[in-house]
Amino acid sequence: MNGRCINCGTCWQFDPQHFAPARSTAHVFRQPSGDWELQQAQLALQACPVAAIQATPASSRGRPKHGFPVWVTSHEHGEVFYCGWASRKSFGACSWLVQGSTGNVLIDVPRWSAPLARRIRAMGGLNAIVLTHRDDVADHQQWSRAFGCERVIHCADADAAPEAEHLLEGRDSRAIASGLQLIPTPGHTAGSICALLGEQQAVLFSGDHLWWNRDRQVLVCSEAYCWWDFHEQIRSLQKLEHLDVAWLLPAHGHRHFFEAGEWRKAVQQTLQWVMG
Ligand code: SF4
Repeated sequence: MNGRCINCGTCWQFDPQHFAPARSTAHVFRQPSGDWELQQAQLALQACPVAAIQATPASSRGRPKHGFPVWVTSHEHGEVFYCGWASRKSFGACSWLVQGSTGNVLIDVPRWSAPLARRIRAMGGLNAIVLTHRDDVADHQQWSRAFGCERVIHCADADAAPEAEHLLEGRDSRAIASGLQLIPTPGHTAGSICALLGEQQAVLFSGDHLWWNRDRQVLVCSEAYCWWDFHEQIRSLQKLEHLDVAWLLPAHGHRHFFEAGEWRKAVQQTLQWVMG
């Protein structure tokens, strides 16, 4: 590890077997061993937005054959992948790829990467890019240009991506692809939106509205990281309580899988906590 780390969390969220936080930086607490572990560590190295992770010549032999995107889960409406190649412009935010039956959708944007673009092209290209809020737009111009695809952002955050072709307005949900809907969840920013894949055992892409804290095993709706209106953010969380979510895939913080019935309990616990 060199001195460039910005403490974005990308490496230890992706590969907690080898990386961990340590005050204001990350550290390697265990060296990888075996092919699979080497590949995971190499992917974490690729994902790091500031090239802070260094590999020895021996560990470089574990270079993964395909790299990102890596598969996360299957849903009847599509396959879901993590894109890696985090961008410093979005403080290492995660971006996700939905490979759906009616085309592929990128949720938030990684840094521009020709190898990642080649992989996505081989998987069918991109039909649309969803920008969940103003902070995580990263290299959206390059991705949109490379794939000739349109971008969607809420009009309240549109100044962060003024070239976006589609603006979501108001607070009503809107379908943008088969099984994929956008839910306005203002609060963290005025134009924050979540994307929901499916209705039962759904996958929720929550941007910075909501994430999982693995140490405390709780959903986090953070006032400390709220840039617009925390009361609105709480109201937006209430809107999500009735959903049937299996996977939570945020831009920052840990992802999490919920067993049946756990989602609602977790949202209620967080609502109790933030409403005092
Ligand atoms: S991914 Fe890179 S910048 Fe982010 S915490 Fe790890 S080493 Fe630091």
